[in-house]
Amino acid sequence: MALHVMEEANRCLGCKNPRCQQGCPIHTNIPEVIRLLKAGKLNDAGWMLFENNPLTTVCSLVCNHEGQCEGHCVRGIKGAPVHFSVIENYISTTYANQMVKGPAPSNGRKAAVIGAGPSGITIAIILARYGYKVTIFDSKDKIGGVMRYGIPDFRLPDSVLDDLAYRHLELKGIQFRPNTYIGTALTIDDLFRDGYQSVFVGAGLWKPRKLNIRGESLGHVSYAINYLASPSAFHLGERVMVIGTGNSAMDCARTAVRHGAAHVTCVNRSDKITASEYESSYAKLEGVEFLMNKITLEIREDGVVLSDSEVNEEGKRVSIPGTERLYPCDSVIIAVSQGAESNLVSSTRGIDTNRGLLTVDEDGRTSRPGVFAAGDAVNGARTVVEAVANGKRVAEAMHEYMQTLPMPVDTDYPDVPVADAMEASAQAEQVL
Ligand SMILES: Cc1cc2nc3c(=O)[nH]c(=O)nc-3n(C[C@H](O)[C@H](O)[C@H](O)COP(=O)(O)OP(=O)(O)OC[C@H]3O[C@@H](n4cnc5c(N)ncnc54)[C@H](O)[C@@H]3O)c2cc1C
Repeated sequence: MALHVMEEANRCLGCKNPRCQQGCPIHTNIPEVIRLLKAGKLNDAGWMLFENNPLTTVCSLVCNHEGQCEGHCVRGIKGAPVHFSVIENYISTTYANQMVKGPAPSNGRKAAVIGAGPSGITIAIILARYGYKVTIFDSKDKIGGVMRYGIPDFRLPDSVLDDLAYRHLELKGIQFRPNTYIGTALTIDDLFRDGYQSVFVGAGLWKPRKLNIRGESLGHVSYAINYLASPSAFHLGERVMVIGTGNSAMDCARTAVRHGAAHVTCVNRSDKITASEYESSYAKLEGVEFLMNKITLEIREDGVVLSDSEVNEEGKRVSIPGTERLYPCDSVIIAVSQGAESNLVSSTRGIDTNRGLLTVDEDGRTSRPGVFAAGDAVNGARTVVEAVANGKRVAEAMHEYMQTLPMPVDTDYPDVPVADAMEASAQAEQVL
């Protein structure tokens, strides 16, 4: 591994005008990281990666490298690009074990983060570096958001996220409150009441988009984001039909294959697979089949009714009458993207949205003072690295905002004596 990594590093030309860095949405200083590695300064290279991108290890595994850093590498014009993803993964996983620094000194202020996806984690880490006491609230039991409950384990092992939780959150004193959905019992108003000076919303997109066709509620049908959250909870049978050909559809299909499905078919309305070339080629390699130019009309207990499709004069894709056929299958996964859930916004005064996405200015300020947002909840379905890059900018704006506020006053009841533990337990015994 080390030899391979150094071979890759030695192929880097150290360009003065590094196209790889320009192609990276978070502008990782790739030539400098590689230079440090080659100079034997692995820890300096690791420090540089994590300072710029706290989710560097995750990004080394799940970024669309062929469209970003590696796709822009000069070496790639005539041959193979420098595979920086391999170098980044090696440096970040090795350096991660050295990261034991505890919390920064407190600055006396606290901030709340809703959502433990990449945007929320980034905000929490940056604010904690400034000395804020940060609490992350998430409706799930563990941190990660889509990284844990969407992206399958075979692409991004949970251990990477567990390590992130320990080294970046626990060791830095960031509190995580699991299984807590903000917008039902607790609201954003409650958070302000309890002294958080600013609230970040990084709630992502978790409401599956429906097909709005007959049969969608049948027992053998599921939505991609629900299936991927815990695939072993679903019994798909031998023949699985996945409606959609995007990256999420590929994740569903490849997960189904790993859970024993013998025939997995992805269906698309048009003639173009929407997933990246990389993801779809893996799916094909693993035996997934594709049915193109088909419109899904109805889901039945024994299969899916599809018709051929064509583009009409208005440019709309429509069914061709008379081509309807039943395609037998045992289960159906609908993977046609997600939208925003509305409870969080509807339970809070003064937060504007546009088609379900939160409206913010260029620094992530929502229409309600003190509430900031970033990630998919603002931009629609994007990527991990974009959520991090977006989160970095918003964290600075939150810091700037909170520094303009007066120091919080202690609103706890003053002078309340501490209960005598013996007395309390004696009273409890009497009650029993
Ligand atoms: C199946 C799938 C595969 C993907 N694969 C890739 C990939 O390979 N590479 C890549 O770069 N990107 C990928 N993406 C996209 C990427 O994961 C997202 O763009 C990114 O996770 C968005 O980050 P986020 O922080 O905005 O939100 P999320 O990751 O969605 O996290 C939001 C968090 O907020 C929590 N939450 C929501 N509402 C509330 C509430 N009211 N109260 C408390 N908690 C709440 C959720 O439980 C969740 O943990 C994929 C997406 C999907 C769906």
